[in-house]
Amino acid sequence: MSASASGYRGRFAPSPTGPLHFGSLVSALASWLDARAHDGAWLVRMEDIDGPRTVPGAAADILATLERFGFHADEPPVWQSRRIGLYRAALDALIASNHVYPCGCTRKEIADSQLHAHRRNSTLIYPGTCRDGLHGKTARAWRLRVPDDAPQCVDNPALIRFDDRWQGPQQQDLASDVGDFVLLRADGQWAYQLAVVVDDAAQGITHIVRGADLLDSTARQIWLQQCLNVPTPAYLHVPVVANADGEKLSKQTGAQALDASRPLEALLAAARHLGLDLRDAAPASLDAFQIDAIEAWKRRLAHLPA
Ligand code: GLU
Repeated sequence: MSASASGYRGRFAPSPTGPLHFGSLVSALASWLDARAHDGAWLVRMEDIDGPRTVPGAAADILATLERFGFHADEPPVWQSRRIGLYRAALDALIASNHVYPCGCTRKEIADSQLHAHRRNSTLIYPGTCRDGLHGKTARAWRLRVPDDAPQCVDNPALIRFDDRWQGPQQQDLASDVGDFVLLRADGQWAYQLAVVVDDAAQGITHIVRGADLLDSTARQIWLQQCLNVPTPAYLHVPVVANADGEKLSKQTGAQALDASRPLEALLAAARHLGLDLRDAAPASLDAFQIDAIEAWKRRLAHLPA
């Protein structure tokens, strides 16, 4: 692990479900600027464990595009698909500490057991059917107990609170908003929530900078960190980029791949999205842009709530 002068370690963690688009460029730029503004290390982690969603060739394409845009990682990229042993070990530790339990419910059973009050943004909240045993069902997934009857690790177990460096103070009641959530899925896939927490801890990540679409996952990740006895990094969630219909820009909503032959144009647009007041609106090179953008990021941070 390379230590940065400041001890800051940040990362960009794309999922290779398609080429880099403008929304992911904004996250890459913000995480890179924050690391550089803190004299920190900046790492890239390829989140390629969701087999069905991973697109062949997308990871290599993303890595090449990052280089083309001037983002050079301080360590070789890490691939989640090669780190399954770490996720297994974390689940085993959670089994030993009784933080998780096997669940035999199908999606349909969970949906049938729900009143409308138990849905949040169309997400099903698990009613806890298998918490005290499988009731003769076959185990399909592993779920993490959220803090209302979990072995307690926090003072006020009902609420997870954190200060987001961009969005300000946040809190979430995991029991009423999320319910016991899946760490190992019925199809054998490791859940994003487990992999991201295990990897951020294993890589010594101190600062997470990413899109605000993941703000809603952060309380779950903090709870999981507490259950695994690993540190909680600082969080900063930048505003997401929306398309003309107001939907978050993603491969699913038809985001265009970036034009790698004109990186400066896209980088200037990404900096504008982050509200950076660049001194030079038409930099002659990537180096000139980067120097200007790091200073603008520092000025931007000075005006944030946290
Ligand atoms: N792989 C996730 C994504 O592309 C990001 C994970 C993270 O930054 O925590 O949406």
